Amino acid sequence: MNYLFGPVASRRLGRSLGVDLVPFKTCSLDCIYCECGCTTNETIQRKEYVPFNEIIAEIKEWYSNGGKADYITLAGSGEPTLNSRLGEIIKGIKRITKATNIPVCILTNGTLFYREDVREEAALADLVIPSLDAPNEEIFKKINRPPEDLNFNKYIEGLISFSKSFTGKLWLEIFIVPGINDDDKSIDELAAIADKITLDIIQLNTAVRPTAEKNVHSETEEKMNDLAMRFSPKAEVVASFNKKTVVNDSATKDKVFELLSRRPCIVEDIASGLGIKPADARQFVIHLLEEDKIKKSERDGKTFYLK
Ligand code: SF4
Repeated sequence: MNYLFGPVASRRLGRSLGVDLVPFKTCSLDCIYCECGCTTNETIQRKEYVPFNEIIAEIKEWYSNGGKADYITLAGSGEPTLNSRLGEIIKGIKRITKATNIPVCILTNGTLFYREDVREEAALADLVIPSLDAPNEEIFKKINRPPEDLNFNKYIEGLISFSKSFTGKLWLEIFIVPGINDDDKSIDELAAIADKITLDIIQLNTAVRPTAEKNVHSETEEKMNDLAMRFSPKAEVVASFNKKTVVNDSATKDKVFELLSRRPCIVEDIASGLGIKPADARQFVIHLLEEDKIKKSERDGKTFYLK
């Protein structure tokens, strides 16, 4: 499978089958906290980044082999709404899994909701989890590092507009970066924007895994709980403080090491080879590098990891 990963256990979504709609790492943002690393193709251009027919064929194969999941989640190596066949993919998934009616979720940064076609296509999902980290353009540039042709006000207006017409569930995720968006003014402004969005839940997250930029710190659990009270409805803290983190999953880390002992791989190969999320594959790679068990090598513009 090239485009499916999992199902993986997700704290929020139960057993979630991930579907990657863009190549690693294609996104409309380059967030400093991204667990997948820095964006290598930052764009707001929609196109068929990965072939529609291959995605549908993989879903069919997975489902006909008895595939079960609590959610099929469009996410992975970047921004899924960049795929111009998003709507057809959701319809295809729903057609294939009709008998068990598996809900479809989109994890999105929401920046393309200013486009009517994206709003219409995303509205076919059952659950949409957009993110909102910045209360203004200045912080948007600091945290999310958008391309020049992406306008902050249009993004916020698009998100509000989508939420008004969407009939499924909408969970808003806000990522807290200490020293940038956790001061009183920023939180008040974020809460004011959230008030304008028709939503079911607000979820607060912070960096508990290695991030694209090294200087991104984690907010404390105590402060996160305080900040949660400042939103209406009260936000849920979804960061996994003191929980078993992916890098402590030594069995999977051993499998990554075994794979890299056999052949050099890029992060996507590791993720698809072991059926894990690209973000998780990257975490294992970072830890194996830190332990000096593997090394990296650049070839044809790609980073390979090997023993
Ligand atoms: S966190 Fe999400 S929106 Fe931000 S760069 Fe990573 S994939 Fe893109």
